Amino acid sequence: MPELTLNTDVQFLPGVGPRWAELLRKLNVETIEDLLWTLPRDILDFSHVCPPEELKADKPQTVRGKVVDVDARLLRNNRTMTAALLDCSSDFVRGVWFNQPWMRNRLVEGQSVIFSGKPKFNQGRWEFSHPNVQWLDEDDSETGGVILTRYRLTDGLKVHKLRQIIGSGIESVIDQIPDPLPESFRARLKMPSLSKAIQSVHQPSSKDEYDAARRRIVFDDLFEFQLGLALRRRQWRARQNAPKFETTAKIDARIRRLFPFQLTDGQNLAIKDLSNDLRSGYAMHRLIQADVGAGKTVVAIYALLVAIAHGYQGALMAPTELLANQHWETLSELLGESRIEKELLTGSLTPKERQRVLDGLASGSIQLVVGTQALIQKGVSFEKLGMVIIDEQHKFGVAQRAQFSNDSGPPPHILVMTATPIPRTLCLTQFGDLDITIVKDRPKGRQPVVTSRISTSPQKRKAWEFLKEKLRSGRQMYIVCPLVDTSSKMEAASAEETFLKMKASLPDFKLGLVHGRIDREERNETMAAFRDHEIDVLVSTTVIEVGVDVPNATLMVILDAERFGLSQLHQLRGRIARGKHRGYCFLVSSSDSPESNARLAALENSSDGFVVAEQDFELRGPGDVLGTRQHGALPLRFADFLKDEKVLEQARKEAFHLVRSGDFDSPEFAKLKEKVLDRFSKLLDLPRSG
Ligand code: ADP
Ligand code: MG
Repeated sequence: MPELTLNTDVQFLPGVGPRWAELLRKLNVETIEDLLWTLPRDILDFSHVCPPEELKADKPQTVRGKVVDVDARLLRNNRTMTAALLDCSSDFVRGVWFNQPWMRNRLVEGQSVIFSGKPKFNQGRWEFSHPNVQWLDEDDSETGGVILTRYRLTDGLKVHKLRQIIGSGIESVIDQIPDPLPESFRARLKMPSLSKAIQSVHQPSSKDEYDAARRRIVFDDLFEFQLGLALRRRQWRARQNAPKFETTAKIDARIRRLFPFQLTDGQNLAIKDLSNDLRSGYAMHRLIQADVGAGKTVVAIYALLVAIAHGYQGALMAPTELLANQHWETLSELLGESRIEKELLTGSLTPKERQRVLDGLASGSIQLVVGTQALIQKGVSFEKLGMVIIDEQHKFGVAQRAQFSNDSGPPPHILVMTATPIPRTLCLTQFGDLDITIVKDRPKGRQPVVTSRISTSPQKRKAWEFLKEKLRSGRQMYIVCPLVDTSSKMEAASAEETFLKMKASLPDFKLGLVHGRIDREERNETMAAFRDHEIDVLVSTTVIEVGVDVPNATLMVILDAERFGLSQLHQLRGRIARGKHRGYCFLVSSSDSPESNARLAALENSSDGFVVAEQDFELRGPGDVLGTRQHGALPLRFADFLKDEKVLEQARKEAFHLVRSGDFDSPEFAKLKEKVLDRFSKLLDLPRSG
């Protein structure tokens, strides 16, 4: 028998063998180490289970029993009530649910469950209203102790077998697990050692022990990523050779004069923050976070013009051609009088035009460029790039931020803007390497958008009467069709179909159509016509989601609204909150799923993007909020953004402190550093040495 190590194939573990190893492989377990890192998804806590005769009214308590009867009833007003009777040996206890008819099917007679909640004594029996329910497996029996771990399983592998195999792994090699954190560091944070934590998370003797163990494991996960971010920042800060731009009173006055309005407090705050960055000698890496319509473009233009005033080039990158065009028009209007040499670089230039722009950027004759991702393609180089603005960053991947640089010479300043209010926890992760300015206010005189959900025919009829009335009085309208993938044929079909239908039902108005399959030139012309009010109603897909700015368009109808994400709906709605007239947004949806009802209600109830984003986050998880699932943007293993906010804050504080103090470079932390680089050097563009 060879000596067992962490790297040993799991089949050699006593009690495993090739047959179980085969099943374990389906859980991505090859080695004994993989096995130990197969962490429980949660635990069942029996330690507070109490017999019915000891229950007290209105206190949080837990009972355990077998379902002996379930019934569902229709009440008045179409409400449903589902009730389940539990046999808890010494007595029966009841659970009831209103308007959750699906509970009927989730509770099966004979099944063992746990109810947690605050009971009331009702009609001679203890009753839990809407208790939290945990379903027990057959083998979740008393024999396992008061805390039972639960794992993701695979067919043929039952939980008790997995627990037994993991137990065997712990017995054989647990002492071999190295701890990347130095003893003293760990002691200060009152954390168990890693081997102890892994053992406890699999075999906890109390909930507290499990929580402490899980906290240690989640801490490492978040800490390592935050260390990566801190290293990335240090790498930038180490080069104190960014151009220094002083925002003199003269420059400031000349820029402000361009705008026909006073800047908001939020805009002034952002300008103050970025001016400090620009004079520091370090390259700026700042994120401006502001809700839709807060006026980020003004801040972007300000930053670009400061760089140009100092003889450098500026670049503004937008995620779509539509938005690049719009920024281009805004800039052209504002800078009509000035002598600044500017160009637009998008995918629709002819090769010849493109070459001319590239030459101008390389020679420095072009001072300001607006564009799409065409700006970061191969062959684009700048003579003296001083300022990069990335608009609507949430539409880009994390890595794209790093792609701007001067071929030689100092790094440019980078300002990233996003209109998706990002919950703080996510922000610390996704944008954890950036300085952050949050703009809270909006330009004065803005009216909130009135949002209403429409599901019945009479509601629809009323809404359309209202909308026609508003169109007649001179407002413009968007009609947004679902299906989110811009390359899909279906989407085009749905927008085309809607366009034809609308043309028939709105004969008095001019209609336009934009979607991803209409060619660029035509799409741009239609947008321009809409902007100039030659078109009253624009039927579109989500191509208008970000940035589009037509203040007179104050009406929006979103079809099949349940098919969009919450933040996306908020972005869309932001299109009609820009002028002096009140905006009206109608969410058309006949869905009756509780989840989409909750989302649409959240939107009806709040116009604050931050509130909406927090809810979105809770309902759908972080990947969807950023729309970056496909980028694999969240490189975390175990952490849960909602549950682990406190640990994240701690991990961030400790990581940044450790790097800043220089202690991270001491031999004590060498093991940890190696781990960080192993995990993140590629993602975060960190050098392997230093
Ligand atoms: P976003 O933050 O969504 O990118 P924009 O920069 O597109 O917002 O600005 C939205 C609208 O508000 C634009 O029409 C812009 O001209 C206007 N705006 C921006 N700042 C101000 C301000 N300080 N006062 C009045 N209107 C403003
Ligand atoms: Mg914008």
